[in-house]
This record gives sequence, structure tokens and C-alpha cells, in this order.
Amino acid sequence: MTSPAMTRAEGGLLTGKRGLILGVANARSLAWGIAVEAYAHGAQLALSYQDARLARKVEPLAEAAQARVYRCDVTQADQLDALFGDIEATWGGLDFLIHSLAYAPASALGAPYSEISAEAFAQTLEISAHSLASLTRRAAPLMLNGGGGAIVALTYLGASRVVPHYGVMGPAKAALEASVRALSLEWAPRGVRLNALSAGPVRTLAAAGIPGFKPLLKAASEASPLGRAITPKDVGRAAVFLVSDLSEAVIGEVLHVDGGFHMLGLAGLG
Ligand code: NAD
Repeated sequence: MTSPAMTRAEGGLLTGKRGLILGVANARSLAWGIAVEAYAHGAQLALSYQDARLARKVEPLAEAAQARVYRCDVTQADQLDALFGDIEATWGGLDFLIHSLAYAPASALGAPYSEISAEAFAQTLEISAHSLASLTRRAAPLMLNGGGGAIVALTYLGASRVVPHYGVMGPAKAALEASVRALSLEWAPRGVRLNALSAGPVRTLAAAGIPGFKPLLKAASEASPLGRAITPKDVGRAAVFLVSDLSEAVIGEVLHVDGGFHMLGLAGLG
């Protein structure tokens, strides 16, 4: 795979900031859309991917973004410790972190909600929500070395509205958003802000695992006041705002980047 061309402006919003972006699987990942925009705005980046399977896709992207690259499964404490140990040793601090990852066993996605097993529920919540606490515990002290920092977690409307087939990911995203608030209360007084970014549907690897994603994407794109599908660039630009100093007083927020779909009472009757 050839490396994509990347552009960067002088004096960007994130110039001088060092950011760790977790959850890059390939060039369609929202994590990569955020990396492209953060790079364009001057950030120095580290990217992280889940396992060896993804190395071939992610390493050329990291090279294009002049980024450090790590392999880290967020359920493995030793891998998390190694990742943050290396960031501390090389950068001495950290200015922002993006949590762009989620997982649910295939059996629990699209299954009738009352039939989701306790094991599938626990695994989904561990990876998709509790990981934010594991990451914040390690990242926040590094952010305080430089006077503070910002953390953004990717979420979806299924946290607060019932979406067909989203199944166990609904409560996982609700827990993630509640974690953003709880962690904000804990860390914001010391200078580490957390916010959630609720993206509209975008065709990615994770999205492909949701039964009925195609009609959902079509319906959301057509009904949203914006009148088109959301792109990784839309998500990336909003994430840049949330980790930049422009959003210094924005804490514990869920920022919808969905073309206005979330505000509709009855979709499709505009
Ligand atoms: P993606 O498949 O590109 O990214 C999901 C990432 O999660 C992958 O990189 C995967 O390897 C990683 N992951 C899963 N388990 C992990 C683990 N144990 N340790 C480390 N990483 C792990 O898909 P995406 O759509 O870019 O998803 C990124 C985030 O955006 C997710 O939180 C997702 O729920 C959220 N989101 C996506 C959409 C959408 O429509 N695509 C909409 C709203 C929110």
C-alpha cells in the first residue's frame, strides 16, 4: 500500500501539541479521519492499533503522518503500560488522546436485546466503555506534566435513542458517555478535559458489523437537515476543535456531528 499524501499548514490550531489516537484499523477508520485533520492542524501524532492483523494497513498510514505507532489491545494492562511508558519516555508528556474504538461480539449485534448473554454484555462494556477509564488513568498524569490536556471519545446516537440492530452497543455507548462525565468530574479540576463526539453513520469496518447498517446510513443521510452523509473529515475537524485550546471551557459535552439528525422528532417529514 502506498502512503497517502498528507498536508500540513503553518500555525495550525494544534501546533506544538502531541496526541495519541487509538483505534486505527485502516484508512476508513474515524480514528484516521481525525489523524489526518490533527496532522493538518500541526499536531505531532502517535497512532495505536489493536493487533498484528492490522499492522499492514496501519503502518503506512503512520508513516504518512510521521507518527509513532503502537500495537495495543485496551484489555491488556501490560500493553497499556508499555504504550504509556514509551510515550512518557519519548515525549515526556501528552496533550490529547482520542478514544475511537469499540467492540461487540457478532452474536450480540442484532440479537434480540433480551437474549444478549451476560458474557457478551460484559465484554462489550469492558472494551467499549471501561477502556476510557483505563486510558484516562494512564494519560491524565502525562497531560498534567504539560499543564493539562483533552480526551475525546467517539460515541453514537444509540446511547440515548433506540436504534434497530445496535443492540448491546446502545448501553455500551450510554456507559461511555456517562464515563466521560464521571471522568471529567474527577480530572477537569486538575486540567484534563473529556468530551464525547457523537458521529453520524460512516461506512467503516466496525459499521460493517452492524446488521442493517446500509439502510440506516441512507435514512440518516436523507433525513438529516444537512442532507448528506457524514464524512471522516467532518468528524476529524470537530475533533480538532475539541482537543484544541478553542474548546478550553467545553467539558463533559456530547457534540453531535451528524448533520442535525439527533434533533429530529420524526425523521423524513421535513
Ligand atoms: P473501525 O473499525 O475503523 O474502528 C474501530 C476500532 O476499534 C478498530 O481499530 C478496532 O481494532 C478497535 N478495537 C476493537 N477492540 C479493541 C481492543 N480490544 N483494543 C484496541 N482497539 C480495539 O470503525 P469506526 O467506525 O472508525 O469506529 C471508531 C469509533 O467510532 C467506535 O467507537 C465507533 O463506535 C464510533 N462510531 C462509529 C460510527 C460509524 O458509523 N462508523 C458512528 C458513531 C460512532
